[in-house]
Amino acid sequence: MPLPPSSEILRPNSRRLLTLVECSGPVTRGQLAQLSGLPVTTVAGVVAEMLQRRLLVEVVSEVAPRGAGRPPRTLVPAAPPRVVGVIAHRGSDLHAAVVSLTGLPIGGRSETVVHPDSTPEGDAHLPGGSLELGARLLDAALRDTGISVQRLAGVVVSVARPQPAEVDLAPLREQFEAPVVAENDANLGALGESSFGAGRELDSFVYVMLGHGVGAGLVFDGRLHRGAAGFAGELAHVQVREQEDGPLCVCGGRGCLAQVMGPSLHEFVRRAYARRLSVPEVLSLAADREPGVRRTFSDLGRTVGRPLADLCTMLDPAAVVIDGSLGAAGEPVMAGIREAIDRHAAPAVADSVRVLAGQLGERAEVLGGVALVRQRSLDEQ
Ligand SMILES: [Zn+2]
Repeated sequence: MPLPPSSEILRPNSRRLLTLVECSGPVTRGQLAQLSGLPVTTVAGVVAEMLQRRLLVEVVSEVAPRGAGRPPRTLVPAAPPRVVGVIAHRGSDLHAAVVSLTGLPIGGRSETVVHPDSTPEGDAHLPGGSLELGARLLDAALRDTGISVQRLAGVVVSVARPQPAEVDLAPLREQFEAPVVAENDANLGALGESSFGAGRELDSFVYVMLGHGVGAGLVFDGRLHRGAAGFAGELAHVQVREQEDGPLCVCGGRGCLAQVMGPSLHEFVRRAYARRLSVPEVLSLAADREPGVRRTFSDLGRTVGRPLADLCTMLDPAAVVIDGSLGAAGEPVMAGIREAIDRHAAPAVADSVRVLAGQLGERAEVLGGVALVRQRSLDEQ
């Protein structure tokens, strides 16, 4: 059988290899073979053609490997690498970040949209006005860094609503001439920790967002599980109080965790004080080991931990990863969650599941956006 012309074999692979080089930083041919799952000889052939077509350039590292041997020759994209734009709420600010496909921060702009001492809506969405503002902030962040929209590999909008497909993204697609997707904020946190943080070595885990809202993201076999209706991990609307005639939640239910806890962890603590506390005040009280605040945080951990215990019994994840943005509040919250899992999950599951702190802090959502764009770029090829 005659072989097809070499370019027909090489070109489809070359797009994939270029994306992998953009996502991983300088790599050797051997590392590229490992990342792509392609045989070393195929990678060598495709790379040779890509070097010829000036898609890649070869860089000789100045640092020789330990011991004898030639310095490694690594491959980098010939053109300036593509970037990712992420629009997300961060506390009371709306934030637009420009990040490399390797996860390095390049630029960003923020603007306060909710006064830190005001109470935001019970189940904050990203309203149309915020979306427009987010687009303006991203545009400004790109201009600050001198990056043209042509270099955008994708734009991700983090939203609190369970079904991000309802958000109208057409204006953003037109403005940025790039794929634009909306994703649930807790799902982005889960993806971030999965690719860059505490979940890197975990095949399955439940990510629990608590800092700026409540939600969970489920990662199984290294992929996000969104569920049939996009509601998977909607921890905010799990019923934690039996209520026949209590106030209705925004979801239409009663006694939801979101109602018990309020829109955020900080809001939950503020209720315990006669005076309205600012977020830094709440966190510094937790850091000072103020017993009242720490007790409130551990109570909250037990409340959140109760439905998590059932989830663990049913899904048997390797770990529960807790929002790393909680700072000093993380420790008592995790202790409460651990206690609830030990008490209510099936003993074998309680013994094996680990409760871990997220490693990315406030950056989890933004890095989740990078992970999402990377995954989509590779899946399309
Ligand atoms: Zn609800």
